[in-house]
Amino acid sequence: MTKQALREDCKQCEVCGFDCYLFAVTCECSSQLVTCLEHARTLCRCSNDSKRVHYRYSVKQLRALSQQVEQHYELLTQKISEKSFDEEHR
Ligand SMILES: [Zn+2]
Ligand SMILES: [Zn+2]
Repeated sequence: MTKQALREDCKQCEVCGFDCYLFAVTCECSSQLVTCLEHARTLCRCSNDSKRVHYRYSVKQLRALSQQVEQHYELLTQKISEKSFDEEHR
């Protein structure tokens, strides 16, 4: 049994403590060290070839997500403008 499995829920950057929920960088030299993308260089002294970026979502999923957010935002702003339109006419 190896203890290589990282607990998905507690990935935090070693340097800044940022919650690496979406992106996490790890290195072959340690299964414990995790950093955010910004601090990948300070993770350890290994070359970038040894480091891996883990995505919680694929880029495709992220795009779909951001589209959903955009649509939601549009709906929200539409509602707000409709509301203020109504109020102007009262
Ligand atoms: Zn960081
Ligand atoms: Zn390393």
